[in-house]
Amino acid sequence: MKLEELRQECSECKGCRLYSTRNNLVFGEGVENADVFIIGEGPGENEDREGRPFIGRGGKLLDECLEKQGLSREKNIYIANMVKCRPPENRDPKTDEKEACIGYLLKQIEIVNPKIIVCLGRVSASYFLGKDFKVTKQHGEIFEIDGRKYTATFHPAAILRNINNKPLFEADIEKISNLISNL
Ligand code: SF4
Repeated sequence: MKLEELRQECSECKGCRLYSTRNNLVFGEGVENADVFIIGEGPGENEDREGRPFIGRGGKLLDECLEKQGLSREKNIYIANMVKCRPPENRDPKTDEKEACIGYLLKQIEIVNPKIIVCLGRVSASYFLGKDFKVTKQHGEIFEIDGRKYTATFHPAAILRNINNKPLFEADIEKISNLISNL
C-alpha cells in the first residue's frame, strides 16, 4: 500500500469522536522513504484549518532547527501525529482516540520504513517508549526496539513556552542527523 491510498482510507474515517469536530484531516507529510519519522500529538488550530501538520509557530521552529542539520520534509523527513483529527481546545488526545487512530500511524511507519522514529513530547514518547518515559530527563537517548531506532525530544510548543530548552532541542536534532548519516 502507498501513503496516498492510506490517506484516502483515513479521510473517510469516523473511528472516534474527533471526526465530528475536525475541519480537515491532518494525515501527515514528507517523503515516502524518509530516514526520519517524526511523531507529534495531534493537530492544532492552524493544522486543522490547512490539513497539514506542524505549520504554526512550533512547526516553523521545528523546520528551522531541522534545516540547520540538513533535514527537511522535502528531503528526508516524514511527520505525522498520534491522532489525525484535532482534539477540541487543543486538549491531549484521549486514550480511546489514540487507540482508534494508532493503526493509521503504524501503517504509515511500515510504509515509510524510517531509520529512526523521533517522538516529539510526552504523548507520543509515552506510547512508543513507555508510560514512565520522562522527556525532560531522557530526551536525546537512542533506543533500539524490534530492530528500529527510537528517540524522543521536546515538543516544539514546549520549546516556545521555555526557550531556555532550545539548545537541548537543537542538540537532539543534531544527534539524530549525525546518527542517520552513519547508518
Ligand atoms: S482521529 Fe483518527 S480514528 Fe479518530 S476520526 Fe480522526 S482519523 Fe479516525
